[in-house]
Amino acid sequence: MTGQANASIKMGDYTVTAFSDGIFQTTIDVTIGVDKEMTQKISGKGLNDPVFLAVNAFLIEGRGVRALVDAGSGDTMGPALGKLPENLVAAGKSLDSITHVLLTHIHPDHSNGLIDGAGNAWFPKAEVVVQDAEYKFWVERDLSEAAHDRQRGNMVRAKASVVPYAKQITRISNCEFLPGIHAQMSPGHTPGHNAWIVEGGGESLMIWGDTIHMDFLQLQRPDIAFIFDTDPQQAVRSRMLLLDQTAADRTRIAGMHLDFPGFGYVKRRDGRYFIEQE
Ligand SMILES: [Zn+2]
Repeated sequence: MTGQANASIKMGDYTVTAFSDGIFQTTIDVTIGVDKEMTQKISGKGLNDPVFLAVNAFLIEGRGVRALVDAGSGDTMGPALGKLPENLVAAGKSLDSITHVLLTHIHPDHSNGLIDGAGNAWFPKAEVVVQDAEYKFWVERDLSEAAHDRQRGNMVRAKASVVPYAKQITRISNCEFLPGIHAQMSPGHTPGHNAWIVEGGGESLMIWGDTIHMDFLQLQRPDIAFIFDTDPQQAVRSRMLLLDQTAADRTRIAGMHLDFPGFGYVKRRDGRYFIEQE
């Protein structure tokens, strides 16, 4: 799943293509909010069984832009990840042709890949667009304000990742940023987590970032949160809101941690959610 296979969706003037950054290995033991016996029962997995999650990014092309939604993990998360630059190049998308990086949030598997191992920009001509609340939390706060060591480590890397883009950062709050492309705040997983919504050809696509990490658990129990959520209860509320919204509106979704390529539709039947992937 880390090869060149990619899936494109045409939406009027825009084409949106999924690219893989690789595979993240974790366990269901990182879940919180629901009894561990229940998560084992629902998933059929033991607490320490490996769980393999896709890490996807999406490229929006058209109307003179080539905007990458999220930047992958760079060289910070081991050899199974950090494949986004080579997968883009293999598909003929040179890294200096990327006009924008639209971040869903600042977290290692989404933003560490802004820079290479030497601290240089992978996407030197790109304008990096991020929610103001997200930038304040990860980049502008003092390290002494970190809630714990892992958060402090993520802050250190976040600060380094934006250095080469100092003159190319645009901070937004919940707005249309490009024609037919707008952000929708969905805080909780991180303070400024947002979805990116693309509209074209009479259709909508919501690239929803980390609204779902483990579909085999969280579609059945959206109240399952993660130790990586900065505000787990708010993350649950945002997840339920976006699941309801996309099911009701029949908006196509794209998920960073849904099996590659990550496109699908949310359906609700008998009080349960499903994702029909394409
Ligand atoms: Zn993630």
